Amino acid sequence: MKNILFIAPPAGGKGTQSGLLVENFGYIHISTGDLLRDIDESSPLGKKIREIQVSGKLVDDETVFELLEEKLQSIKGKPFLLDGCARTVRQAELLEQVLYKLDMQLDLVIELDVPYDILLKRATGRISCPKCKAIFNKYFKPPHEEGVCDHCHEALVSRNDDNEETFKTRYETYLENATPLIEYYKNLGKLVKIDGINNTYEMISEKIQND
Ligand code: AMP
Repeated sequence: MKNILFIAPPAGGKGTQSGLLVENFGYIHISTGDLLRDIDESSPLGKKIREIQVSGKLVDDETVFELLEEKLQSIKGKPFLLDGCARTVRQAELLEQVLYKLDMQLDLVIELDVPYDILLKRATGRISCPKCKAIFNKYFKPPHEEGVCDHCHEALVSRNDDNEETFKTRYETYLENATPLIEYYKNLGKLVKIDGINNTYEMISEKIQND
């Protein structure tokens, strides 16, 4: 099965599409945002990471790659999908090095295309389950019971970087870095661009199976 990397703006649907691919194809989902969020906030490193995440800026490459390499090492041999890394050309180069070292490879890079106004609503309406990680949206995909997970009945939470102000910084950071990153993967012949609103999952699964 193809190993995948997603490039998408914040709230572009990486998490949702990853969930579907995990369920239907058995992929291992690796989200650097989640790996960073999982670091205990009471530690000095966790506190520093949380401050950067809340600001909408990027965490340093060294921290991200330490976590990522450890995770990749632990799933060696299984198909993976990367969500949230690489975010810059420098990270794409570091990723190549890490994958080479672990005798792994990246086969397909999927760019999800979503307009700004939809992204903003997706981000500010996003609520997720802290237990099973299911994602809902107040506007587009509300849970059956307000504020409660459909699957495990936990209280749903909003991410602290999903407010409008942080979203704008995250979006600007994305725009600044994504253009050269997309070019980088285009030159390697690995990039496909997919509409992030209509039939997204169908198009992704076709690309995974048919190319
Ligand atoms: P995400 O969950 O992918 O939206 O990421 C949330 C936040 O985590 C980002 O705004 C960054 O602060 C941080 N982050 C996630 N992945 C990376 C990465 N590859 N490099 C640097 N920072 C990251």
